[in-house]
Amino acid sequence: MLKPGATIGILGGGQLARMMALAAAPLGLKCHIYAPQGDNPAFDVAAAVTEADYDDEAALQRFAAAVDVITYEFENVPARTAEVLAAIRPVHPNPHALAVTQDRLTEKSFIRDLGLPVPDFRAIDSLDDLKAAAAAMGGFGVLKTRRFGYDGKGQAMIRPETDLGAAWEKVGQAPSILESFVPFDRECSVIAARSANGDSVAYELCENEHRHHILARTTLPAAVPAALGHEAMAIGEKIAAALDYVGVIAVELFVAGDRLLVNEIAPRVHNSGHWTIEGAETSQFENHIRAVAGWPLGITRRRGRIMMDNLVGDEADRWEALLKEPGVHLHLYGKAESRPGRKMGHVTRLLPENG
Ligand code: AMP
Repeated sequence: MLKPGATIGILGGGQLARMMALAAAPLGLKCHIYAPQGDNPAFDVAAAVTEADYDDEAALQRFAAAVDVITYEFENVPARTAEVLAAIRPVHPNPHALAVTQDRLTEKSFIRDLGLPVPDFRAIDSLDDLKAAAAAMGGFGVLKTRRFGYDGKGQAMIRPETDLGAAWEKVGQAPSILESFVPFDRECSVIAARSANGDSVAYELCENEHRHHILARTTLPAAVPAALGHEAMAIGEKIAAALDYVGVIAVELFVAGDRLLVNEIAPRVHNSGHWTIEGAETSQFENHIRAVAGWPLGITRRRGRIMMDNLVGDEADRWEALLKEPGVHLHLYGKAESRPGRKMGHVTRLLPENG
């Protein structure tokens, strides 16, 4: 268990690390951010920074020796980086959780083996595999690279008329999976947190809308039956326990009729949990910090109806008008350059429960 005044090392310098560091400060904890050269908005709010590449082992060792515990804001932390750090300081969530969630085939197999519902999927290593799997799934599916996919990148929709050769080219002929197409009604996610002593909490299920494959809006409560909401929360906690996880984890789910299907796991704080900063008793960032510090978790109760909108690209230029709206909570990430598709900030609105 860390003492107040201790330092948490965070890999990654983006908005998630920034909001973690902002949550650590009121708890009397410091953050040291490690990130490669670039636009690192988390540097602005950190007690210490290291600007170095993730394969710079000397820099990683110095960083690890300077902090008390290490966490990260992104799941693609190279295995070797995690190994170098874990030899010196505890790394939370543990490197095994990283390895499981970095590869869609390992991840989906792990979820299925826990007895949890996932779309049907098959490993694809060649065009012939793709042809056979597409035929077995009735011609419909989603081809996804096993590694390094995010926000719809490294994916191709498969329909009966799709040129499978072109789809295989589109994913770069990289090891992939073909997943059955889910005609979902809604996309939802659940954020859970687990502490070092195995206690866990989950936030209520939230509903997510995407534009151009990027999260646009999160709302709560999700328009799903209460039983499904509870099932989703239990799924989040079950996955966290199975990974012997310490920290915050996000589980993205499809709601199709009265069924939930797990889409993917993010072993980190998540964009669909930003509403918790003002919308829950304890934010996902604070609970993540508490967990990695070895501290007890805070309660997750929601405060009213919630709408969180991402400010993507030039949407953040509306900041002044947004500030004039009473009760709006504006977050700008302090990024040096706005680009189309870049997450520049978010706004959260809390509405009366029965309004
Ligand atoms: P992912 O990167 O796996 O989260 O997928 C990005 C988006 O593609 C999801 O948010 C869905 O809108 C869509 N998608 C992914 N997998 C499926 C599926 N099996 N069936 C239907 N739509 C999907």
